[in-house]
Amino acid sequence: MRNLCLLGASGSIGRQTLDVIKKHPNDFSLISFSVGHQTRKIALIIKNNPSVKSICLMEKSKVNYYQKKYPNIKFYYGDDGLLKLIDDSIDMMVNALVGFVGLEPTLYALENNKIVCLANKEALVVGGELVNKVLKKGQGKLYPIDSEHSAIKKCLMVDSSNVKSIWLTASGGAFRNLKREQLNSVTPEDALKHPTWKMGQKITIDCATMVNKAFEIIEAHYLFNYPFDKIKIKLHNESHIHSYVEYENGELRLDISKPDMRNPIELALYEFNKEFRTYTAKSLGQFKKYHFYDFDISRYPVIKWAEKVINEKGTYGAVFNAANEVAVHAFLNHEISFLDIERIIEKLMLEHENIKHPNYEKMREIDIKTRQNAYELIKNRRY
Ligand code: NAD
Ligand code: MG
Repeated sequence: MRNLCLLGASGSIGRQTLDVIKKHPNDFSLISFSVGHQTRKIALIIKNNPSVKSICLMEKSKVNYYQKKYPNIKFYYGDDGLLKLIDDSIDMMVNALVGFVGLEPTLYALENNKIVCLANKEALVVGGELVNKVLKKGQGKLYPIDSEHSAIKKCLMVDSSNVKSIWLTASGGAFRNLKREQLNSVTPEDALKHPTWKMGQKITIDCATMVNKAFEIIEAHYLFNYPFDKIKIKLHNESHIHSYVEYENGELRLDISKPDMRNPIELALYEFNKEFRTYTAKSLGQFKKYHFYDFDISRYPVIKWAEKVINEKGTYGAVFNAANEVAVHAFLNHEISFLDIERIIEKLMLEHENIKHPNYEKMREIDIKTRQNAYELIKNRRY
């Protein structure tokens, strides 16, 4: 039996993690969780998980009300509150938060030798170096939930010798059938119509801009230790091939299944210690019912920032992430256009003077500074 802490229980990955826990009541017990604005969801989560003993809310103002309502449960709030959930009674933390806020709990859980199942890719985009340093030093363990990385991990577990490249598949997001010229007038409502996955708003926009794939390249670099030029992208309409490994002899090993995030969540919770299947193929041409297209960087130029973050490291990941978080938020609020997201990222990445080997405090400082710079750019329309 594993005692679990679930950060971001009210979100898309959080809710699907609760489904997986419910399916395996003898293997996992929910001890603590956090929710954001959707505090209405607390009652049902507690009802389904009587083992819960602490909860973190985003807003301090709601703590009193809930503390009175549930006197046997300890309530916390804010970023510090997230860390308080990860105490001695916890074996495993599932990080289903979105954004920079997921980095500190990831580092904290690993420093305390916990098992971390990570959906929050931003933690690796910003702090991949820090995360790997903690992993090397202590007994903490890290398992990916992101479907592409779960797929690659499975393939490498079967055969990691003579790897030529790892290939991340990409649906192309909501605008995959549009040319770049047609992106000028697209709306947030259009961008939120993802063709194959139902996810949180931020990642859905990130899929349309391809920032999500740039983040996933960085995530793959830190998880599997391959350089940028060995991590490739293949556009694949159906999202059934979750990713694949290409070997020196030309053979491929692939992970294939219908898109359902509960599969990679379950595998991560079982620490990849569960039966799984991968497939081999001579080429993608064998899969006649699927559609594949070569990736074109001129259509999705944000991918170049993944190369910069991987090759130069330091604080570039923090800038890429913070610029994107602010820009996506502004786009969702109809304050900027779709293509302005990449313009804001470009401007802030070019202006940034990299700081090598930053600690968490420095990353946080750069995160805050970049957000301020991004707000200024948006306010003064200087991008
Ligand atoms: P979501 O928006 O549905 O949920 C995010 C959760 O984080 C919510 O519970 C929200 O309340 C919480 N949260 C946000 N900001 C917070 C803050 N400042 N403090 C405390 N809590 C906060 O997002 P999601 O789609 O579930 O994605 C979660 C993570 O998983 C992201 O990093 C995303 O890139 C990754 N991911 C998601 C999917 C998917 O299918 N949804 C697939 C792969 C990876
Ligand atoms: Mg993914």
